[in-house]
Amino acid sequence: MPAPLSELTWDHSYRRDLPADPEPRNYVRQVTGAAWSAVSPTRVRAPRLLAWAPQVAELLGIAPGHDPQALAQVLAGNTLAEGMAPFAAVYAGHQFGHFAGQLGDGRAITLGEVLNPEGERWELQLKGAGPTPYSRTADGRAVLRSSVREFLCSEAMHHLGVPTTRALSLVGTGEPVVRDMLYSGDPRPEPGAVVCRVAPSFIRFGHFENFAWRRDGDNLRRLAEHVLCRHYPGLGEPAPDTILAMLTEIAQRTARLMAEWQRVGFVHGVMNTDNLSILGVTIDYGPYGWLEGYDPDWTPNTTDAQSGRYRYGHQPGVGLWNVARLAEAFHPLIQDEPALNGVLDAYREAFAAAQDAGFAAKLGLGAWRGEDEALVGDLLDRLRDAETDMPIFYRLLSGLDVAGPAGARSDADWVAAITPAFYDADGVDSEQRAAWAAWLRRWAERVRGGAPDAERQAAMKRANPKYVLRNWMAQQAIDAAEQGDLAELHRLFELLQRPYAEQPEHEVAYFQRRPEWARHKPGCSMLSCSS
Ligand code: AMP
Ligand code: MG
Repeated sequence: MPAPLSELTWDHSYRRDLPADPEPRNYVRQVTGAAWSAVSPTRVRAPRLLAWAPQVAELLGIAPGHDPQALAQVLAGNTLAEGMAPFAAVYAGHQFGHFAGQLGDGRAITLGEVLNPEGERWELQLKGAGPTPYSRTADGRAVLRSSVREFLCSEAMHHLGVPTTRALSLVGTGEPVVRDMLYSGDPRPEPGAVVCRVAPSFIRFGHFENFAWRRDGDNLRRLAEHVLCRHYPGLGEPAPDTILAMLTEIAQRTARLMAEWQRVGFVHGVMNTDNLSILGVTIDYGPYGWLEGYDPDWTPNTTDAQSGRYRYGHQPGVGLWNVARLAEAFHPLIQDEPALNGVLDAYREAFAAAQDAGFAAKLGLGAWRGEDEALVGDLLDRLRDAETDMPIFYRLLSGLDVAGPAGARSDADWVAAITPAFYDADGVDSEQRAAWAAWLRRWAERVRGGAPDAERQAAMKRANPKYVLRNWMAQQAIDAAEQGDLAELHRLFELLQRPYAEQPEHEVAYFQRRPEWARHKPGCSMLSCSS
């Protein structure tokens, strides 16, 4: 077998299209007049391949059968395969509402762009491969716990049908990384890891903000042209109108991504502008979480618990706020205020349409009707009123018959059908039960006469996942992996390849409300940016 990954075809368009930082040394600095700095990963002691995504390998054209040990060396950054040209990119960004100046790839190192046999472009990036000129005061490393979370969730999101970066591999470094997990003044060594993540591009809103902030109009234009030519080629040759069309499409894709996050109950946790992709894909899995008990004010990120800026119910609004920052950055290229305001309108329209379509699919409504808004509004009130598990509720609803004798249930039977979704069924009082029964009857009335039960149920189950990566599930895989047991990690990886399938053998373990032990356990209910 040849050296791993030497079979890939590389084409480094980002490096070719955009200027390099001339400084070859690796130390923390401000970088002006350039889009990237050449930097090599820092070697680690004992790399070991912990997980591998065969589908992503196939996507890239990686031949099967490589020796895992040799793969681990390359995917930890210890050796470079022929054709790789590693670098860290510079970007800026707004963090928690404030402009933060230069950020950049502080612990991500791009290995290069692969052209796969289908001619698709895929950038490979190592996360946690050591310091770069953009590491600021940090170490460029990642801990196993957050790397497991990124590896599992990016693949889970893909199989949910939500646009996302992918993950090829998870490699343990055999070296400790010191982290103060809850910022409690108690730093501890934890096992380190490197994820190799994969996307057509990792360019963020913040790449544009960097050049706009530095008043570097030339590079701003070059970056826009690069993104247009490489990633939005269907829009035409670079010109003010095609750049505007690209910005509009970025806004629309971001809006649709927000609707998708809302549909599946995903909370990103750190929606800073440097964590938003210009391709409209989910990027940078940090202290994310999944809604269990439906609560629009919930955020998994302790760092954001006070302001709740990035809570579930706020994500669509923050997406718009971030698009507004991107539109400002484009101002030097498109000096046309009404056109830039039109980009924000395009976001609003795309979000509204995607949200309506999402609810129509989740509730089995067929085509969305204006009056369905009231049905949805009431449902959200119900879900919030008694702590109700969002994924379980929708999945149970997806299985209900509305025709024939089953459709003529008593109030008690209607409520019984969704009771497994309640966190405290005994605490749901008679008034709440009556309100639930009324809502369920109303819903049944709305869908009756539409598609036959079996057909509607199958369609609803394609919109309502049975299995999502609840934090306590990820934490069980992490606890075991830290002890060297990878079985749970691999089990979850397999489970989450088919999130909409019944998989009855996994129901008891994973089609479950958050267990009580997880309610206040770090990693299950609380996460910080410290990863
Ligand atoms: P985040 O919001 O976590 O995606 O990261 C914000 C910025 O901090 C980015 O520029 C990251 O590259 C950088 N950063 C986060 N963690 C580290 C780390 N351990 N070492 C170096 N830079 C980091
Ligand atoms: Mg980030």
